[in-house]
Amino acid sequence: MLIKHQVDADTSPGMRTELTSWSKSSLSSCFVYKVSDIEGIVEALAIARAQHLSVIPHGAGHSYTDAALNTNGMIIDITPMRKILSWDPTKGIMEVEPGVALRELVQIASKDGWWPFVSPSTPEVTIGGCVAMNVNDRNAWKCGPFGAYVLWLDVLLTTGESCTIVQARDTELFRAFVGSLGLLGIITSITIQLHRIPSGFVTVRRRSGSSLNALMSMFAEEEQGSDFMEAWLDGFAGEDQLGRGIITCATLIDSGEAPPSRSPTSGMMTHLEKPLVSLAASLVSGAKGAPPYFNN
Ligand SMILES: Cc1cc2nc3c(=O)[nH]c(=O)nc-3n(C[C@H](O)[C@H](O)[C@H](O)COP(=O)(O)OP(=O)(O)OC[C@H]3O[C@@H](n4cnc5c(N)ncnc54)[C@H](O)[C@@H]3O)c2cc1C
Repeated sequence: MLIKHQVDADTSPGMRTELTSWSKSSLSSCFVYKVSDIEGIVEALAIARAQHLSVIPHGAGHSYTDAALNTNGMIIDITPMRKILSWDPTKGIMEVEPGVALRELVQIASKDGWWPFVSPSTPEVTIGGCVAMNVNDRNAWKCGPFGAYVLWLDVLLTTGESCTIVQARDTELFRAFVGSLGLLGIITSITIQLHRIPSGFVTVRRRSGSSLNALMSMFAEEEQGSDFMEAWLDGFAGEDQLGRGIITCATLIDSGEAPPSRSPTSGMMTHLEKPLVSLAASLVSGAKGAPPYFNN
């Protein structure tokens, strides 16, 4: 169903809307159609064909660039397609509509002890957007990108034809579709394998290094014992201090191993969008009455 703008497919190109990207770096004037099901997408595509408009799907609009914008073209906003279609807590397999936010997926899965193998650091993105951008996490060196854990996708091509693309069967097509930025068709459902976690607790280690070489050596030392690693670099340091910074490593642990709890530290992250790690903290504290431990 088309739920935002009821328009005559033969005559009206729909409502012009000024959209911006997450970075607010550009403004784009597009025809926006909000859809709540596959029929709505088919209807919108028919309107685009009749009006000779190019089409791009749109999730939460959290990509850094203008990937989800389409100046003078049509935007198909799939965020109302947000049903969890199935959840198997014994195998950790979930099927979702593309507009389901990462937040909604982890809220259900974490209660049963599961978590995505790969998640970007904001929970506000849609699962469709994560597949289309093939996002990665602070564990890319050992887990690879998001698409590696998608078992199959249902997609709608611009011809109006729908098909199921199974990673293990249609490997080449699957690899083309994942990370294709919405240019090959519209993802209408995603079936994903989640990861069993021992608890919502992690230990975190931070180390500073005086050069890029020092940080790379620390990564090499920490990679065996870490589940996640990242570095913040000082962009102003030069010469032999070029690339100096701080690395942060985290390891998933059992709740029994967790030392007395402390809240996540404040700092820059509190001024940004609430990160996924805060969501983990609130979910765990809701379930067990104690926030996870952060060992700074
Ligand atoms: C605070 C913040 C932190 C971030 N952290 C990370 C990170 O750690 N790692 C990382 O890799 N990225 C990260 N990102 C980027 C972001 O996670 C990705 O760009 C993600 O894809 C955005 O999802 P979205 O729902 O907002 O998609 P949108 O921005 O709406 O769309 C992104 C692309 O996906 C396409 N698309 C959307 N839905 C569909 C669909 N149903 N079918 C086909 N194509 C579709 C769009 O056409 C567009 O090309 C971060 C972004 C922010 C704002």
